[in-house]
Amino acid sequence: MNLTPHFTLEGLCASSTAVRLGIDNTPPDNLIANAYRLAEGLEEVQSVLGFPIHHDSGFRCEALNTAVHGAPTSQYVKFEAEDFTCPQFGTPLEIVKLIQGSTIQFDQCIQEGTWVHISFTENPRREVLTAHFNGGKVTYTAGLGEQSSRLT
Ligand SMILES: [Zn+2]
Repeated sequence: MNLTPHFTLEGLCASSTAVRLGIDNTPPDNLIANAYRLAEGLEEVQSVLGFPIHHDSGFRCEALNTAVHGAPTSQYVKFEAEDFTCPQFGTPLEIVKLIQGSTIQFDQCIQEGTWVHISFTENPRREVLTAHFNGGKVTYTAGLGEQSSRLT
């Protein structure tokens, strides 16, 4: 089902982890409005980047979220967040910088290791964060910064 010209419901639910674990990652009907909002946001992101984005981690049904040890309140469960890269445009730092300087009404945009996390909600905060990975623990600092440790 097409949500916007470049994003389908199936594409936003695609998860290699779900496939591997045999989990049916079909969203409930009450989240379809959120799926549209996310797709519209990703359209805007793609148009400012000027290149297609690659994503593999977005919506998580409860079974998938439990399997990946996600927080129960995760925006993924509400169909509000997506992780993506855009290698043709540049690094996650460059991508977040561009999105921060745009007029896109995102909720959170996080430089999250080797990818970018973005979410779209009813009341967007336009919060920019940098994730730091320390021995399996993730902490976040406000704004754009260098990663404090290297991902392995
Ligand atoms: Zn994420």
